[in-house]
Amino acid sequence: MSVRYIKGVGPKRAAKLKRLNIDTIRDLLYSIPKTYEDRSRFKSISQSVDGDRTSLRVEVCGYPSRFRPRKNLSILKIPVKDDTGFANLVWFNQDYISNQLDLGDRIAVNGRVSIRGNEVQITNPVFDKREGDRVGKIIPIYSLTDSLSNNEMIKIVSNAIRDHVHELPEIIPDHIRDELNLLPIHEAIKYIHFPESRACYLEARRRLVFEELFVLQLGLFLIKHRKADMGSGIVFSSTKDMDIFINSLPFRLTGAQERVFGEIEADMESGEQMNRLVQGDVGSGKTIVAILAMFKAWRSGYQSVMMVPTEILATQHYESMSNIFKAYDIQYALLTGSLSDAEKKRILDGVKNGNIDVLVGTHAVIQESVEFAKLGLAITDEQHRFGVEQRATLSQKGMNPDVLVMTATPIPRTLALILYGDLDISIIDELPPGRKAVETYVVGTNMMDRVNNFVKEQISSGRQAYIVCPLIAQSDKLDISSAEELYTILKDGAYSEFNVGLLHGSMKSGEKESTMDSFKEGSLDILISTTVIEVGVNIPNANIMVIYNAERFGLAQLHQLRGRIGRGEYKSYCILINGSTSRNSRERMRVLQGSNDGFYISEKDLELRGPGEFFGTKQHGIPDLRIANLFTDMEILKIAQLKSEEILRDDYLLLRDEHLPLRQTIINMFGDRVNGSIFN
Ligand code: ADP
Ligand code: MG
Repeated sequence: MSVRYIKGVGPKRAAKLKRLNIDTIRDLLYSIPKTYEDRSRFKSISQSVDGDRTSLRVEVCGYPSRFRPRKNLSILKIPVKDDTGFANLVWFNQDYISNQLDLGDRIAVNGRVSIRGNEVQITNPVFDKREGDRVGKIIPIYSLTDSLSNNEMIKIVSNAIRDHVHELPEIIPDHIRDELNLLPIHEAIKYIHFPESRACYLEARRRLVFEELFVLQLGLFLIKHRKADMGSGIVFSSTKDMDIFINSLPFRLTGAQERVFGEIEADMESGEQMNRLVQGDVGSGKTIVAILAMFKAWRSGYQSVMMVPTEILATQHYESMSNIFKAYDIQYALLTGSLSDAEKKRILDGVKNGNIDVLVGTHAVIQESVEFAKLGLAITDEQHRFGVEQRATLSQKGMNPDVLVMTATPIPRTLALILYGDLDISIIDELPPGRKAVETYVVGTNMMDRVNNFVKEQISSGRQAYIVCPLIAQSDKLDISSAEELYTILKDGAYSEFNVGLLHGSMKSGEKESTMDSFKEGSLDILISTTVIEVGVNIPNANIMVIYNAERFGLAQLHQLRGRIGRGEYKSYCILINGSTSRNSRERMRVLQGSNDGFYISEKDLELRGPGEFFGTKQHGIPDLRIANLFTDMEILKIAQLKSEEILRDDYLLLRDEHLPLRQTIINMFGDRVNGSIFN
């Protein structure tokens, strides 16, 4: 029902609410306050602490006085007292208030205390003649736009609660509510807006957090079941050639690679569509697992496509394929945005008529012009760089192709169930043998000379170095290193005797490629770049990475960057230059210094930065969380997951009467994604 049905909401206010994405009464009731101001705790005048916001019960004990220290400043003071002492209520430019208070009035006030010598002042207080209107309780603070005031919002919300809260359906089944001791929805909504105490707020919040995570998790499980249930996946044949192919590789698969490929093979040979996420730390060897799957698809007569986030990585994968596929009659091609029209046409034709078996490329592969003759396998590498939408577009290039997504961002299982709730998960938890841990140092900006000398020493003995910084070009506002600036400074300064190259995302792709090639061949000693090298770059001779303004990056990202070195026989060093003196960033840097374990690092990252920044954007396609916090509400999340599994075990389609409101909520929330063949 539209907010227009709420008392006090006309077209104007409805339009203002719409700007806050509030269309329906339900939206409004679920608009959780951003924070609260606790005006419920009273102190006496003598207990008041300078700087605190405090509520007091006082009596007006003198006449108002006015001062005009400056032309457009007028100060109103009204003396008050309680049993413990005297104070002055002070207002700026609000002289009219003197008409509202009389000598002897007993009022409740709330405002900021400021103690000036012996004088206790309460500045710009709000006051109630009848306690409980504005003072003496906890006041919700909403996130609003300029045009709607917090007081208006409070009024609208309290009208909506009074007249409409009973229209909200209870979606959590009674037995779960009883078991977990959760408030009924009507009370939870009432108290989340107008809590009577902190305990009351916490109970309301617990109920709403549970509801939010429960609905989300159920929806994700249902999407997964639905996919599995469609049964219209491709059945790839099992083939003996697989073993021959694996034995022809230049290395032996690790145990973890074998296990994960086994899981993929089982998926591919079953009639269900594969939807699998492969997680594995940087350098754990995910690429080869993808190549094995593509080989298998080819043996069954299907095409494969692999989408990667950068051109550099696409090229790198293309080259890996060349080495591995060369003994076979597999036609593979590289598609990026920078091909000539003629080349592009040749590739698109080949893909469309089925001559090309394997296509690797950037976002270019999901463009409309790309049509496959018989796509059987769609792979996304470095999934965390793509959105759910792009992943979906890729798999829609075929008729229910098997889907494999790969990521180096390891996340705890509880969260994986939310972020990738619609996927099965495989983990490559072992690095290929012979990897040497990278030695990591954290230094301040005062150590640059020593850092430069160390880099020079290593380069003189034949090695190469990456220098990474957060920005491409200098920004006026921020005091942060940029690749262009560092390049200018270093190539003629500290590193003038060496060959220095520059690489960043806004260079033309031809330039990027030739710079990358020069670095690979060794004609460049130092590569100054942005995070474009974060994924895929593999140059074993490079053994040093210096990261400027390391504090600007996420830990998982730094770990990923660091994965570019330690790829050869040489001892490798990662030097993090911490441009911040904050304790938090020191602590974060120390995590990297102390660990090479991507799982541990990303858990720490999550803990130290909070989930908002950790996940970056809405990329993952999770509906916005209104109230729950994936990290701090982890315990509730676990319970929500448990209960979701339980409830679906009993009532797979949520068709029982007591589950119908839940089912409707999920359909409203996820739309088409659950509203498929079975869940309808
Ligand atoms: P990531 O998981 O980060 O994508 P890659 O697939 O790029 O890792 O592999 C990193 C490097 O390890 C590559 O040079 C690859 O050839 C090599 N590699 C992969 N698997 C093995 C293995 N089982 N034994 C030895 N080297 C391997
Ligand atoms: Mg990779």
